[in-house]
Amino acid sequence: MYNANIWTVDGQLPRAEAVAISGGRIFAVGSNDEVLPLASALTRKVDLGWKTVLPGFNDAHAHPIYSGVDHLKKVPCDKDSIEAIQAALRERAQKTVPGEWVAGFLYDDGKTPRPINRHDLDVAVPDHPVLITHRGGHTIFVNSEALKLAGVEEKTQDPAGGRYGRDSSGKLTGFVADSATKDFYKLIPQKVTRDDLRQGAALISKMFISKGVTSACDADAGSDAVQGYQDARDAGDLRFRTYCLIHLADLPHFMQAGIHSGFGDDWLRIGGVKQYADGSISERTAWLSQPYVGIPNYTGLQVTSGEELLETSRRAHAAGWQLATHANGDLAIDEVLGVYEQVQKETPRRDPRFRVEHCTLINPSLIRRMSALKVIPAPFSCYVYFHGDVMHFYGEQRTRNMFAMRSFIDAGLQPTDASDYTASPSDPMMWLQSQLTRTDPKGNVWGANQRITLEEAIRCGTLNGAYASFEDGIKGSITAGKLADLVVLRQDPFKTDPLALMKATVERTMVDGKWVYES
Ligand SMILES: [Zn+2]
Repeated sequence: MYNANIWTVDGQLPRAEAVAISGGRIFAVGSNDEVLPLASALTRKVDLGWKTVLPGFNDAHAHPIYSGVDHLKKVPCDKDSIEAIQAALRERAQKTVPGEWVAGFLYDDGKTPRPINRHDLDVAVPDHPVLITHRGGHTIFVNSEALKLAGVEEKTQDPAGGRYGRDSSGKLTGFVADSATKDFYKLIPQKVTRDDLRQGAALISKMFISKGVTSACDADAGSDAVQGYQDARDAGDLRFRTYCLIHLADLPHFMQAGIHSGFGDDWLRIGGVKQYADGSISERTAWLSQPYVGIPNYTGLQVTSGEELLETSRRAHAAGWQLATHANGDLAIDEVLGVYEQVQKETPRRDPRFRVEHCTLINPSLIRRMSALKVIPAPFSCYVYFHGDVMHFYGEQRTRNMFAMRSFIDAGLQPTDASDYTASPSDPMMWLQSQLTRTDPKGNVWGANQRITLEEAIRCGTLNGAYASFEDGIKGSITAGKLADLVVLRQDPFKTDPLALMKATVERTMVDGKWVYES
């Protein structure tokens, strides 16, 4: 490839014009004059017309395969008009056996002009039960047929810990929250087969590469997920590389087989063990030292006791497993760092690359402890942009210390980029825009002190992601000897207004030296 505007993320040679690729690897990078003479008569030369080229992006925390299965079976409702959602549901209903459920997902009531209701759903799909899951995961929207099947009537009382939405005249709206959703979910047959997982991995990898994501870390993979990725790969359908953080309950299977982090190859690798210290930011269950804004005395949830975390971490660390623990709130991060400090003291390992998944709310003392242990934070990259509507629960003061990319980088840490898909889009251009601007779509700015530069943000999304999976020696930059994973952008992000970076979309994606996506 020549006549290219290449940003390599390699400090030795940050900019280049040409890159030579052979056998899935990069073998030379430099100016046109340096690289073009290496071509033989059989070399295919591609003139990129001075388009921008970056290393392929790494989504360092996502849930690809299970969301892939959702995409196979459910209607994506991440649309900004109720009419568009109705049309998609209607189309699916026409292909669905009468009486069977039509399920939707990825809906966000903050993104449509008003929340969708049972009447909208009845108009679109009168003769099937319909259930749409909210992107946040704890609320659903159903039609009249679904209410009937669940036995929910106007006079039905709200269950403990749950709620049925009602309009001003007391009529059911079809909105169902928290524990009340269980009566609906149990009516839907949920069997996921091995073949579904294979197809789910194939589908989601195809979707991710269209956004320039060439590597993804599955942040909670069971044995079935690992098998699904491998099946997709055997079938020639896995288009991105995967690093699997293993679900705690499945860890014993892998440990008994004598496997630890790093097992696998360039396409599919066993990563760390995934544990949870607290809840989520969007559902306001992150474990905080100070109460949520507007909810006195409530500071979120600790989901695993310190003793339990220490016990499993101790065993896994000693057996050569990377530790990757979900911690959003400052108290949760404090607890996880305490565990990491303790296991490293008991069993010192040279390069354990401890990870804190999300690592959302920090303070100077947490940052100091993270630096001492070289802990890798894997924060949400486009939270400020994509979830601007929940930032007020935390308040402007606290958001100065959330998704704290500036603080991490200034402390010498190597934060990654991550979507937590389906929680937010696996879309690197949105990540960059959010991190450079800290601005939501309404123009509100949250924590401007945490803005980072474009160069830094690209590095987080490429090389740092590879570092977090011990793969910075083989990918993450456009460097001779590394895997040939890269993206060609439609416009130069270095010449784009940071508030419009999302428009610098991906034109082509290469994985392993092959073009796997061309728009
Ligand atoms: Zn996650």
